Amino acid sequence: MYLGHVVEMGTTEQVFQPPYHPYTEALLSAVPIADTSAIQKKHIVLEGDIPSAMNPPSGCPFQTRCGWKAEVPGGLCDIEVPIVRQLPGGHQIKCHLADDILARMDPVIKMAAE
Ligand code: SF4
Repeated sequence: MYLGHVVEMGTTEQVFQPPYHPYTEALLSAVPIADTSAIQKKHIVLEGDIPSAMNPPSGCPFQTRCGWKAEVPGGLCDIEVPIVRQLPGGHQIKCHLADDILARMDPVIKMAAE
C-alpha cells in the first residue's frame, strides 16, 4: 500500500516471484535477511521523500520515486492514476508498465543457487 493505494495484491509466491509493482520491489529489497549465504537480494534505494497523502502527486502516487517510470511512454505516469490490472491467477497491480516490461522483471529475493 502506498499513499492509500493498494498497489499490488496476490499470493506470497506471486508477489515474490517476481513482484510486479516497483514499490513492492523496493519494499522486498528492504527486508532484513539474517543469513545471506543462501539468499541473493537486490538492493534498491528509493530516491526522494514520501509525498504527503493529503497532497499526493498527480498521476501515479509512486511516480515521484519510481525507478521504472521511464519505461512508460508518453509521460502517462505523471498524468494518470493507473487502474487495477488483473494478471493471471488473481494477481493484481496498479501500474502502467506494459506486459513485456513486467515479463523482464526479476525476483528481488532468491536462493543463491537459482
Ligand atoms: S505507474 Fe509508472 S510511476 Fe507508477 S509504479 Fe508504475 S511505472 Fe512507476
